[in-house]
Amino acid sequence: MLLLTPARYDKAHLQTLREGIIKGISGGRLYTAYIGIGSNLGDRKKNCERAVELLQQQGISVRKRSSLRETQPWGNKNQSLFLNMAIEVETDCTPRELLAILREIETRVGRRKTSPWGPRIVDLDILIYNDMVIKSRELTIPHPFMHERDFVLQPLHEIAPDLVHPVLKKNMRELFESLTEER
Ligand code: ADP
Ligand code: MG
Repeated sequence: MLLLTPARYDKAHLQTLREGIIKGISGGRLYTAYIGIGSNLGDRKKNCERAVELLQQQGISVRKRSSLRETQPWGNKNQSLFLNMAIEVETDCTPRELLAILREIETRVGRRKTSPWGPRIVDLDILIYNDMVIKSRELTIPHPFMHERDFVLQPLHEIAPDLVHPVLKKNMRELFESLTEER
């Protein structure tokens, strides 16, 4: 039998209460989200893998992961090549909570403030969150440029070809194909 000292009992009890409250708020509902991961500084593969590991440590279950691909930098071309991947996760976090976790993981992996589209140790973006459409100052979902970027669509269509973009109403295979046809 596990005997709990009062201090340990309190901690365990509080944790159970907290989980119960969170489940109560979200109704215990799990959401499927897709996250884009990229790095073009330092040990790029290790940075991406560390980010996935830290997400799992935060209780976010990683259901699928794409392969890692080397891609050309976007926007500011005068920087080194990126490694990109996409993952499918299941979580009871709200989109805002998920964004806060991603920001914290970026910092923990070592990201410092960078210019938009500049070099970065790691970049974590929410691409899709269930079929939600959000436009606020700090968060746009689906990610506003995802359908224009092959470094996003390449790995995303690899793990979720039939996933439908909730605004464009096209699946990832179709979006990826129209992007490659444009060239
Ligand atoms: P980028 O990814 O465009 O290169 P940053 O990673 O520096 O730029 O992110 C800039 C801001 O973009 C973040 O502080 C965040 O508030 C905002 N943002 C808006 N929508 C999203 C999203 N879907 N996923 C991640 N960040 C987002
Ligand atoms: Mg970002």
